[in-house]
Amino acid sequence: MFDIKKECTQLFDETVALRRDFHKHPEIGFKEVRTSGIVAKKLKDYGLEVKEGINKTGVVGLLRGTQPGKTVLLRADMDALEVNEENKCDYKSEVEGLMHACGHDAHTAMLIMTAKILAKHRNEIKGNIKFLFEPSEEYFPGGAQGMIKEGVMENPHVDAVFGQHVWADVPAGKIGVRPGPLMAAPDTFTITIKGKGGHGSEPQLGTDALIIGAHVALALQTIVSREINPLSPAVVSIGTFNSGTVMNAIPSRAIMTGTVRVVDPQLREEMPGKIERIIKGVCEAMRGEYKLEYIHEYPPVINDLGAAGIAEQAALETVGNNNVIDPGLTMSSEDFSYFLEKAPGCFILLGNSNPEKGIDKSNHHPEFNVDEDVLPLGIEVLIRTALKFLNS
Ligand SMILES: [Zn+2]
Ligand SMILES: [Zn+2]
Repeated sequence: MFDIKKECTQLFDETVALRRDFHKHPEIGFKEVRTSGIVAKKLKDYGLEVKEGINKTGVVGLLRGTQPGKTVLLRADMDALEVNEENKCDYKSEVEGLMHACGHDAHTAMLIMTAKILAKHRNEIKGNIKFLFEPSEEYFPGGAQGMIKEGVMENPHVDAVFGQHVWADVPAGKIGVRPGPLMAAPDTFTITIKGKGGHGSEPQLGTDALIIGAHVALALQTIVSREINPLSPAVVSIGTFNSGTVMNAIPSRAIMTGTVRVVDPQLREEMPGKIERIIKGVCEAMRGEYKLEYIHEYPPVINDLGAAGIAEQAALETVGNNNVIDPGLTMSSEDFSYFLEKAPGCFILLGNSNPEKGIDKSNHHPEFNVDEDVLPLGIEVLIRTALKFLNS
């Protein structure tokens, strides 16, 4: 087997240049035309079978090893965020209001380099490797579902999926691998309370939607505190509450929007019912009516135990015993979960926090940045994971 670490390190300058080029030219979900064009061209240059335009701007490159075997899929996401960059680097975003604030520029660059190295060693590979570049991870419905519908998990059939994210909560130089649940499902809701408007001096003639809404907002907080096992993570957050237009009128409407995050799939199914029961009860008691719109967004990210074991072994070989950590469960979310519903796999967190270099902002922050010294580690762990799976 070739010297994996050496080849990843040798590509450092090329990886950084590629990442900075993507960083300067961020593109929002489903409009990653420039980015996906560069991805496709490079994969073709490396001799892969390339399919473009999957779910609009998605790209898949297929590398067939010289010996038959299983198929592993490695995934990167390509989209930027509607964030105005506040970093002062010379590769700052050139697009006003758009920024690679989640590190997807790094993911794309690392996966291209992973393909470059593995393509060179095709005759040492048993089985196939699919390199998948996904559009629009950040905004529901995301890019993964559409790519799966267009057949990326077949021809050849994918036996395992692995993805990676640069992660602000893990120190640079470390890699986080967690068997089982890693991220929550981010569901959303809109509640409309309907009452009857009137003059502020005559409450007896109206039905005050604002007051009903206020009771609903408070009562919903008892779901997590009084109804759910404290050992099962759950969040119900109301992010907006709008009601009324003037100081001396009874509001006829109150509209709230919020997010629900849980990990347990059964609890996830029960949440809309719990929420509706409380809204219904409060509205009945206070003479109001309501409408509840509830949207199940991305499923929770749940890593397969076997696949996580492979990723952990790969991480140990990449950064050593003391630098592989369990990052813990987070209530953030990722649409990589759709791939995990179709095949066993693992989502790996590449440590990125480096306060000494001033890299200490969370993902999505306008001053988020990537510690570029970790990029070769990201490439290395992907290569080791893919090869370990194919040889297992
Ligand atoms: Zn993000
Ligand atoms: Zn992200």
